[in-house]
Amino acid sequence: MQENSLKTVELVRMYSVPINDARVRELITWYVNTLQRAVDIIWGNIEWRYEFPRITRNGKVKLGKKIRIPVLPKSNSFKKILRDELLKDCPYAKHWVDAVIRTAYSIMESWRKRYVKGRARKAKPRIKRRFARCKITLMKVDYAGKRVRITLKPGEYLDVSWASKWFSGRVDGWSVGEVILKDDRVLIPFKTVKMIKVERVIGWDSNELSLDGYEPSIGFIHVNLRYLQSLKIVYEKKKATAQSIGRRDLFGKYARRERNRERDFINKLVSQLVKQFPNTIHVFEDLEKSSLVEKPKVKSKTRRKRNARTPWRTIHRKLSEKAITSSVSPKNTSRTCPRCGYVVKTQVGHVFKCPRCRLEIDRQEVASINIRSRYLRMWGFPRTNEPEFSVRAEVWVGVAPNGWRPMIWRAMMESPPEADEAKGRGLDIV
Ligand SMILES: [Zn+2]
Repeated sequence: MQENSLKTVELVRMYSVPINDARVRELITWYVNTLQRAVDIIWGNIEWRYEFPRITRNGKVKLGKKIRIPVLPKSNSFKKILRDELLKDCPYAKHWVDAVIRTAYSIMESWRKRYVKGRARKAKPRIKRRFARCKITLMKVDYAGKRVRITLKPGEYLDVSWASKWFSGRVDGWSVGEVILKDDRVLIPFKTVKMIKVERVIGWDSNELSLDGYEPSIGFIHVNLRYLQSLKIVYEKKKATAQSIGRRDLFGKYARRERNRERDFINKLVSQLVKQFPNTIHVFEDLEKSSLVEKPKVKSKTRRKRNARTPWRTIHRKLSEKAITSSVSPKNTSRTCPRCGYVVKTQVGHVFKCPRCRLEIDRQEVASINIRSRYLRMWGFPRTNEPEFSVRAEVWVGVAPNGWRPMIWRAMMESPPEADEAKGRGLDIV
């Protein structure tokens, strides 16, 4: 790790301002319908090409099975036809049509990527949520007055102010990005750029009930997520009961509460992590949630369910809004020897044993070390430079409800003699 290297990070914080405006609800209805129309038209103009993927194995190039690749229509002439079509009977400012088109393309592009990877079916995307994503050209921000004016129709505006809101002090000097309109609120993204002095890199392994991190000067870090799991289990039961007695109102109430408590917990967890580990790059596995939840990779049904319960994406995203994060390929992170790079085929028990270099290490710790060193290698650090296994200290970061405020404990062990013993002495939390 380069000492004291400076990195710029873009920080984004999303805050919402409640509104109650019939014009906005009408706009959203138009927006969602028009967005679906745009998706329909793009879908109908997809060109399907046959391709034979090239597979390189042991230096030989082979052609793989024939696959059909969707190509989205992107020519200017097509875009003009699309725009003209959507502009027909459009009562709103023309820029709203451009906003719709841009959102339609980003929906289609993400569908296309997932389809090519085998993660989405050949089915036209359906717009289910009610929202309208604004364009910067439709907004006029008054930073001194802490107001934003959004053009609905030519000469007709929606004024939103954050001057008296609780978060207004937190975003002083920040710039405003493209707002999102919802039926009852406006979501405003605030952005700023910060220079951060990077002092350490932590590799994080995302597990069902914990986040497990590694950094040589700290040692192993355990973040307990049991609370999040039990919260989800409790509300799953409550929602099932509400459903069985046909109370949709109750079901909705529980779903909202569950979401709020989860969000609350994650926010507090993330701000504690940022406080505990300042000037840090947090490295995660690039986990498409689906690969953990889908059938072939994770065989046990209960395990799939549990993985589905842990909101990894939200945790990663929230952390990335407040700190520097990066991701590496998840391939074999828990099967690769952190010392010599040998990929172990099968593994049983709690201890990882490398048949090549004879390293023995707690299996839980293997992945986080590998995630970290994978990131360092991307930056050109050779395998032999790290990791320092001589550091056996452990930090336990537990999160538990205190009233409704989760807290984090941190206990540092200066020089525990053996790993097992250190583990036994770690604070048992929750
Ligand atoms: Zn080895």
